[in-house]
Amino acid sequence: MPQDITRIIDPNPSPVEDRLRDGDEAAATIRPKLLADFVGQEQLKKNLSMAIQSAKQRGAAMDHLLFFGPPGLGKTTLAQIVANELGVNFRATAGPVLTRAGDIAAILTALQENDVLFIDEIHRLHPSVEEILYSAMEDFQIDILIGEGPSAKSVRINLKPFTLIAATTRAGLIAKPLRDRFGLSLHLDFYNEGDLAKIITRQASIFNITLGANGAAEIAKRSRGTPRVAGRLTRRVRDHGVINKLSVIDQTMVVAAMSNLAIDSLGLDDLDRKYLTCLAEFYSGGPTGIDNLCAALGNERDILEEVVEPFLIQKGFIMRTSRGRVLGKEGYSYLGLKPKNPIVADAQFI
Ligand code: ADP
Repeated sequence: MPQDITRIIDPNPSPVEDRLRDGDEAAATIRPKLLADFVGQEQLKKNLSMAIQSAKQRGAAMDHLLFFGPPGLGKTTLAQIVANELGVNFRATAGPVLTRAGDIAAILTALQENDVLFIDEIHRLHPSVEEILYSAMEDFQIDILIGEGPSAKSVRINLKPFTLIAATTRAGLIAKPLRDRFGLSLHLDFYNEGDLAKIITRQASIFNITLGANGAAEIAKRSRGTPRVAGRLTRRVRDHGVINKLSVIDQTMVVAAMSNLAIDSLGLDDLDRKYLTCLAEFYSGGPTGIDNLCAALGNERDILEEVVEPFLIQKGFIMRTSRGRVLGKEGYSYLGLKPKNPIVADAQFI
């Protein structure tokens, strides 16, 4: 499949979006700044709002907070909103970047009272960094080793109270002692089309484009329940509008722009369709192991597991079972095939 299409439906940030995350003005205006402007995730927002109010009234650091859920649903945005609502500094880093105990020690000792430290991809922390975090989170203290060999000395450093906000797409990979140190764990769900349409309309106005009747709804339908995908599709629709000199982009124009990108009315692209066809035709609907699918499709396991499968599972197109991947009833119907009977015998779902 063409490279650019992979990027369009990929809920992970592209390198450009990574740069935008680091403070570019356009990204800064796209990200909502207040909880009230953050669309959807109603239950989560209620819990978060209570934790923020309580911290403000106590004049203390908010409890440590873990956000988990698929990429692109707003974990980083919410972490920034929390810092903003609390009126404290926001410092961001990511698990894979922190390779030595000294890296995290330098960040922790520079924090001001009640600041928010955001660690993305917390499931990818190095064990030596994770160990430092334990006492930092619990007692606001760290012990670091200075020097090497027999003359090495352990030095205790007191930290200012802070709030750790961590995000992960793989909550199951976080060690229990670390998980237990979060006062609050909040799960982000995929968005419904109504909420996505609101996010798209807001982004379109920031991009200075007018989406005519049902234009936003048509993009929402194809956004895989994910605001990051919605934002990317809205930008491609804007390009279509600019090139064709359209002042208002209506539903028909959105459909034309999407068909140029080979994204169908459900938001599935070439790779999704190849995945489903491969499971149906090569493996008779499964069950089959993920490694077989990776080899047959020539794709990496991470891409299939984190980008392709979550949406197909959510749609009921496939199932992950203890015996492997299985094509679901909806998957057969999408491909226009008759379901195998029974679809999956005595399989345990995982
Ligand atoms: P994550 O950290 O979960 O990967 P981000 O917080 O980086 O996701 O969000 C991805 C993009 O989607 C950002 O541009 C963000 O502004 C936008 N976004 C996410 N959730 C919402 C929301 N509920 N309302 C408006 N925009 C959102």
